[in-house]
Amino acid sequence: MTPDAARRPLIAGNWKLWGTRAQARDYCERLTSLLPPEAERHAEIGICPVFTALEVCVEALDGAGVAVFAQNMHHEETGAFTGEVSASMLTEVGVRGAVLGHSERRGYNCESDRALQEKVPAALAAGLVPILCVGESEEERERDETRRKLRTQVREALENVADDRLAEVVIAYEPIWAIGTGKVATPEIAQDAIGFIRALVADRSEDAAGETRILYGGSVKPDNAAEILAQPDVDGALVGGASLDPKGLTEIVAAAAP
Ligand code: PEP
Repeated sequence: MTPDAARRPLIAGNWKLWGTRAQARDYCERLTSLLPPEAERHAEIGICPVFTALEVCVEALDGAGVAVFAQNMHHEETGAFTGEVSASMLTEVGVRGAVLGHSERRGYNCESDRALQEKVPAALAAGLVPILCVGESEEERERDETRRKLRTQVREALENVADDRLAEVVIAYEPIWAIGTGKVATPEIAQDAIGFIRALVADRSEDAAGETRILYGGSVKPDNAAEILAQPDVDGALVGGASLDPKGLTEIVAAAAP
């Protein structure tokens, strides 16, 4: 599998439950003042604000070369699904994609692989870029079940995606034990898991595997980003806590330089 030029690194900041509209506006102003011009960036950049701040961010980042992603999406367009937001509601406000299957949503909101089987193709059908999150717990790693878990999550979530659209799905390997804990995976662990995920995509389509962007997420900070991003199969990072500081996100973008 040869890495494809299409695999431009993506650095996406997941704000989780943070950001009033006023805070979002300030953040975007600071971020755009800190980032180098688009042509000098080594990576695509995204932020993932809460639903209520999406529109403010899209407006504030207009022309700045920073994409806005939602943190979740429902697969149905309308219906009796209280508290949910659909793909067309996101595209209407100019959102580029959606994080799907984050481990916090799997854990706190019972998001299942079955639901992701509907969500990932629904996002693609609406023209959104899905960022599909997968990853093992600490206990699963200790029991040597990492590959089994990743195999199940990746296969199930991609089951209803046609081979010729697989490469449009961004996958984020986010070991649960590394999220918000400060316990970043070693570059070797990140490379090993992400190489395995790429091989799972290759089981479906060799071409797609060469083009699919696979990110690492879990306690990425400005001082540990470069060595992880230098791994051959790592195509960027999904950044939680450190992304709440626009300077931190900017430094992680700089760390994606070859
Ligand atoms: C995340 O929320 O996706 C994440 C990786 O969080 P953190 O960087 O804080 O570990």
